[in-house]
Amino acid sequence: MATSTPASVTTYGNFIDGQWKPSASGQTFENRNPANTDDLVGIFQHSNRADVEAALDAARRAYETWRLVPAPVRAEMLFKVAQLIAGRKEQFARDMTREMGKVLNETRGDVQEAIDMTFYMAGEGRRMFGQTVPSELRNKFAMSVRQPLGVCSIITPWNFPMAIPSWKIVPALVCGNTVVFKPASQTPLSAVNLVKILEEAGIPRGVVNMVTGDGDEVGTPLTTSEMVRVVSFTGSTKVGRIVNQAAAPTFKKVHLEMGGKNVIMIMEDADLELAVDGCLWGGFGTTGQRCTAASRVVVHEKVHDAFVEAFVARARSLVVGDGLDQQTQVGPSNSESQLRTVVSYVDIGKKEGATLACGGNRLSSGPLAKGFFHEPTIFTNVHPTMRIAQEEIFGPVVSVMKCRSLDEAVAIANGVEYGLSAAIYTQDINRAFVAMRDLYTGIFYINAPTIGAEVHLPFGGTKNTGNGHREAGVAALDVFSEWKSCYIDFSGKLQRAQIDVEQI
Ligand code: NAD
Repeated sequence: MATSTPASVTTYGNFIDGQWKPSASGQTFENRNPANTDDLVGIFQHSNRADVEAALDAARRAYETWRLVPAPVRAEMLFKVAQLIAGRKEQFARDMTREMGKVLNETRGDVQEAIDMTFYMAGEGRRMFGQTVPSELRNKFAMSVRQPLGVCSIITPWNFPMAIPSWKIVPALVCGNTVVFKPASQTPLSAVNLVKILEEAGIPRGVVNMVTGDGDEVGTPLTTSEMVRVVSFTGSTKVGRIVNQAAAPTFKKVHLEMGGKNVIMIMEDADLELAVDGCLWGGFGTTGQRCTAASRVVVHEKVHDAFVEAFVARARSLVVGDGLDQQTQVGPSNSESQLRTVVSYVDIGKKEGATLACGGNRLSSGPLAKGFFHEPTIFTNVHPTMRIAQEEIFGPVVSVMKCRSLDEAVAIANGVEYGLSAAIYTQDINRAFVAMRDLYTGIFYINAPTIGAEVHLPFGGTKNTGNGHREAGVAALDVFSEWKSCYIDFSGKLQRAQIDVEQI
């Protein structure tokens, strides 16, 4: 809740039915910079069920007209959205670094991903291909068309505060749905920035609504209400399970993108320098706070020691600090509780008997005193069954394991509950293809780390990472539309499929 607030700090409203307004609860919460908690980024609405119901009702009403706007016209607005975001990329990136910590180059990438996705999906306004197929009967026409579903609940995490909301909101809109968007409480400013652009681009009132606040209070009605037809959620597996269960009684379409424990496999013929570059970026980029972060590295025993030596030396040299500082390579954890999780897993790793090869400590002296900083940390001699090798930590901690063959590496790689992203470093095309076939993940890389997805291919994972849907690419259209198969009989008589079989 807000206490004493400097006059220069802005209080932001919810966006409901085309208006920015305070929550019915009369309560607000603070958003502080994780690199320096003295820095108050803004005050946001601590919303309640009444706000969500008002937003859902606005979305339900707006749907009746928005679904009838031709898709190419909806898309014209989205092209404008992409251009407007591009014009403010630098400001949005700075706001994002300030509210969630990742370094400026990466927040620029986050905003760029929203631009790319919006241009890509706007293009779908003139495609959205269905099928036209021959009919088995004379003088009959058969085709399928995509139909919107109605009101969509969009629930997002804090680690990609503009990219992930855009992956959901933009395809939902181009398909003709309306949305109620609940951003993570750690990143409401980036959500406000995105919604203001949608407003400025002329998206009609009620089509996009945003309600900020807690998972429980705001998230629950978004997953249980009869008015909602689709829930698109990205976040932890724990909350994803709650969302799935909450939505089940009303048979909503539920799209879940959840946790990961991603792996880089390094074979004995790999370009080791390239592999070290990949492991640094995959493991410590975004402070390890990516769903696709490479928190496990499996290395062939023949190159294990050489790899570890180079990897540890490079990790030690990474500059940790405020993401707005040009020199910084690794920003803070997003919150105190996220940092506590990192610290607790370092402790778990030590107790499990893994070797702490570097890092392992919270950083809190000098300019880092007011933030949630932690050293880049590498464990070696990790056994695949240890908790640090099995559970998502979501911080700058990498577990290195040894293998004797590709088969063993694949078994270790697949031996976790998650299935988002995997990578192999090898010069052997045959082994690369075997790994590509046998890794049970939604994303796979050869000679590149586990992060780096592009917006025009499907994104998502297997096992406890996802529930069979994908976002991005044309796959996103499958989440936000339903197929309608249409038959047009112009024979002027009753024709019975499967019964009136024509003999030649
Ligand atoms: P989280 O699960 O704590 O929260 C995600 C969102 O769900 C937030 O907006 C939160 O307020 C909301 N929420 C919480 N309780 C809810 C409830 N009961 N009902 C409805 N909504 C509720 O996750 P987080 O800490 O914000 O993000 C980190 C997690 O997200 C990690 O596990 C990471 O792997 C995952 N993630 C996955 C992907 C992917 O595409 N697979 C991408 C990014 C992040």
